[in-house]
Amino acid sequence: MFSTMQDGPLSIARILQQGSGPHGASAEVVTWTGDGARRRSFAEVGRRTAQLAHALRGLGVTGDERVGTFMWNNAEHLEAYFAVPSMGAVLHTLNIRLFPEQLVYVANHAEDRVVLVDATLLPLFQKLLPELKTVRHVIVAGGDKAALEAPAGVAVHGYEELLAGQPEVFDWPEIDERSAAAMCYTSGTTANPKGVVYSHRSIYLHSMQVCMTDGMALSQADRSLAVVPMFHAMSWGLPYAAFMVGASMIMPDRFLQPEPLLKMIEAERPTMAAAVPTIWQGVLQHLEADPHDVSSLREVVVGGAACPPSLMKAFHEKYDISVLHAWGMTETSPLGSVARPPEGVTDEQRWTYRASQGRLPAGVQGRLVGDDGSVLPWDGESVGELEVRGPWIAGAYYGDDDPEKFNDGWLRTGDVGFITPDGFVQLTDRAKDVIKSGGEWISSVDLENKVMGHPAVAEAMVIGVPDEKWSERPLVAVVLRDGQQVDAAELRDFLAGEVAKWQVPEYWTFIPEAPKTSVGKFDKKRLRKQHADGGLD
Ligand code: ADP
Repeated sequence: MFSTMQDGPLSIARILQQGSGPHGASAEVVTWTGDGARRRSFAEVGRRTAQLAHALRGLGVTGDERVGTFMWNNAEHLEAYFAVPSMGAVLHTLNIRLFPEQLVYVANHAEDRVVLVDATLLPLFQKLLPELKTVRHVIVAGGDKAALEAPAGVAVHGYEELLAGQPEVFDWPEIDERSAAAMCYTSGTTANPKGVVYSHRSIYLHSMQVCMTDGMALSQADRSLAVVPMFHAMSWGLPYAAFMVGASMIMPDRFLQPEPLLKMIEAERPTMAAAVPTIWQGVLQHLEADPHDVSSLREVVVGGAACPPSLMKAFHEKYDISVLHAWGMTETSPLGSVARPPEGVTDEQRWTYRASQGRLPAGVQGRLVGDDGSVLPWDGESVGELEVRGPWIAGAYYGDDDPEKFNDGWLRTGDVGFITPDGFVQLTDRAKDVIKSGGEWISSVDLENKVMGHPAVAEAMVIGVPDEKWSERPLVAVVLRDGQQVDAAELRDFLAGEVAKWQVPEYWTFIPEAPKTSVGKFDKKRLRKQHADGGLD
């Protein structure tokens, strides 16, 4: 029997209409300029989105052609987020922090036709442009287009000139909800980056999850500070979710250091903010030395890498800000799980729940798979690789078979851990980072979190290094807080009460700065290489 319900397509255009219509006057997008901000109401963003779509049609963009963006988080990037998919084309966010050869690879692989570029990124983009084989138009936002030298066959346009005089409404086409809306490549730390293609339907459903009370709980009452870049993992879905419910957005543009972020928070009073742990570590350290008013924040979402419990506690105890831990991947749109503790637990249990990666929601099914391929129980003990599936989880990569990443319709996350009977995932490590010492496993993340619990330590990275007797042992690279001193012996003593004796590392090194990946996570690959090259004492 069929249902009697209507079947309206779930589309980005619907999200746009909701944000720019009913919420058009009450919600705004604020773009930080360094010493102040540019403001645009959601209604204005809606009108400019229509103008951009007309302009892109005028440049010949049809069908599902790819339109790339090489931009920071700002109002123009937001306009591209809506215009490109709503007109039926496919938005391709280029991660400006990838290596140049990777950027060339992804733009050519996706066959980008047009690229929108922030003027401040032109020097970087200039070097890539001659290698981009399918690009015919470049649109420069926020600056002088003449600063770009284009090869023959590529036209350069100014963003504002292109929009000027275009109609402020667009008759958005009806689009099959399963067709491509946007694509994003993984950072490709081991091989070539792989393209994940989101559909209108997957983005719509994912946005609803972001807004759910037990998700990120985004609502019209919020002002959200999206520190997570729009060029990687869709800024955790915040732009679409914000338009769905009419939550204002604060966009940091290129001002991502602790000092400007704190200025922004003080001036624009966000209620929620989202970023990877290393950003929050920096903000916390800066706050201690240079106090700012952060009282507007009700919650900060931390994900993309394990959040050290010490970070959560510091925000809670010193600033009364709740840190919400979330887990996800480019392949999961990216929201996979969110750590909101259940009701009726003790204070201590609440911290354990909050430090976990969180509960898988109805839209994300999860299972644990052991080394022998068997499916393990959710008993809070059995450790295996997490596999997930659901309507906003990737089922394949774009034009790139990678059978290793998929198992019978499930996405293999490469993350290892256990799941409690009430559905909370506790990851112990990435499969490739686990340290195998004398036949036992040591979690690099667990050691990092414990070392970062020492008051003199700002950041700690742990990698496995070859060892004759144990095959591998942990090496800890420590970044000290400004003006603090501590030596390896003291840190070993500190750990002795925290982890099993055989896990206490013998190898320690002190480094001025932790190597980070393109999206600000600890770059263990680089640390391993530094170690192999003899660059660490
Ligand atoms: P990349 O592999 O380039 O970092 P993603 O941004 O898609 O690409 O990263 C996804 C991975 O980040 C996950 O598979 C997981 O290893 C890690 N990750 C994300 N969130 C968390 C978290 N809350 N705790 C631990 N690891 C996390």
